[in-house]
Amino acid sequence: MSTDDEALQRAIERIGGDLAAAFPSSARHPLKALDARAMEMASSDQELKAALFRFVDVVPACRSLDDLARHLTGFLDQVPERTPPLAAAMRLGDTKTGRKALGAAAAGGVKHMAHRFIVGETPGSALGVLRQLWLRGVASSVDLLGEATVTESEADAYAARCTSALEELASAARSWSSRPALERDGTGPLPRANLSVKVSALTPLLRPDAPDLGRRDAAGRLRPLLRRAAALDAHLHIDMESFDSLEAVLDLVLELFSEDEFRTGPSAGIVIQAYLRDSPQQLEQVLDWARATNRTTPLLIRLVKGAYWDHEIVEARQHGWPTPVYEVKADCDRNFEALTRTLLAARPGVRVAVASHNLRSVAHAIAVNRLAGADDRDLEIQVLRGLGDDLQDALAARGFRVRTYCPVGDLVAGMAYLVRRLLENTSNESFLHEQARGASLEELLAAP
Ligand SMILES: Cc1cc2nc3c(=O)[nH]c(=O)nc-3n(C[C@H](O)[C@H](O)[C@H](O)COP(=O)(O)OP(=O)(O)OC[C@H]3O[C@@H](n4cnc5c(N)ncnc54)[C@H](O)[C@@H]3O)c2cc1C
Repeated sequence: MSTDDEALQRAIERIGGDLAAAFPSSARHPLKALDARAMEMASSDQELKAALFRFVDVVPACRSLDDLARHLTGFLDQVPERTPPLAAAMRLGDTKTGRKALGAAAAGGVKHMAHRFIVGETPGSALGVLRQLWLRGVASSVDLLGEATVTESEADAYAARCTSALEELASAARSWSSRPALERDGTGPLPRANLSVKVSALTPLLRPDAPDLGRRDAAGRLRPLLRRAAALDAHLHIDMESFDSLEAVLDLVLELFSEDEFRTGPSAGIVIQAYLRDSPQQLEQVLDWARATNRTTPLLIRLVKGAYWDHEIVEARQHGWPTPVYEVKADCDRNFEALTRTLLAARPGVRVAVASHNLRSVAHAIAVNRLAGADDRDLEIQVLRGLGDDLQDALAARGFRVRTYCPVGDLVAGMAYLVRRLLENTSNESFLHEQARGASLEELLAAP
């Protein structure tokens, strides 16, 4: 290890140790909020996990409890090993009354977990939580649940929900008291209202075999949203989804943000997924674009590992394609750290948000930032509501700029989100899983 590496590791241990000391006991560990039996079942049975995945993909298209149960039993039917709870669920699926009960039970289970991860059914009902977070020194980004629209009218409805969410958020945020640490960084002011959107919800035409079609269709709905965000002084963030939509999303966003109308605003951002083997090239493409366009409001780049890992593996294996994602967790973590360093060095041409619940990944970003002599405020740390609450509070208490991603939506839309979080965190390699099983701080903060 070189002297620089040793200094970095010492800084990571200091920062990580300090943050971890602020966490309450493991009794409040975020994974405890997920239903224990569901966690156990999903992590022990690969077939069940696969069935749940296929189910998640169709959940947004379900229109009733009966419909929900019909799909659930359809997918569970493919699981060869029938445990007693699974067999009971399948029997319920045989009749309309049974299906209604099963749909209601599934919805009830989701509701039980949902209140911790989803801040409200509508943006209006979420405003109280968002204000409380702001008062505690935590900024937010609202995500309107409901991915992958199937028809043009659904895409129009999603765009309309986004517009009214922007208006409600901007209007409510005006009355929030001043929080200088959250409202300005070294490059200028930061909007209080912040909305994350999904391109797959803005067009039903997002297909890898015809990327231009989806791009044009989504641009028609994204432009008015960008105009509205600029007029309301709100931030619009474009989330990244599965690999098959990456090229269309990246091209769409970079093209739109290059248009004269959007050169000076609104504040906007995109996501880079470090689990993708080609993510260093994707980041270079974005940084080249940022250098060439010299946008007045720097693009905010949110660095994540990626939420669709199992999906990408299954999809690639089904088609016999090489997997686009790393298959060894440590490779993904090392890449995340390399991209963190590239991003931090690219400021002030871009703004940087590191989104993770992994104490090592977060402490590494803070340490690299500090060792470069930069201000803590020039790095944003982002967490998910319900999974990163303790980390969020520890960061806010130490004056770091922290933003919590707050999903908003009803139960059916929330189901896909929750099952994704459930499956992600039942993985033995998840940081939160490691933390919950009692791994030592030294192990948790070790270099990947
Ligand atoms: C604020 C916020 C916004 C987000 N927005 C997005 C978004 O727009 N798009 C998106 O895709 N995700 C998004 N995510 C989710 C994110 O990608 C991660 O899935 C999640 O945060 C878990 O990563 P971690 O660093 O917290 O935990 P860790 O436990 O350190 O990492 C878990 C992640 O590692 C990866 N992984 C797991 N096993 C392996 C393996 N065997 N080989 C290689 N890699 C593996 C997966 O990406 C998995 O999710 C967001 C997360 C946050 C906090």
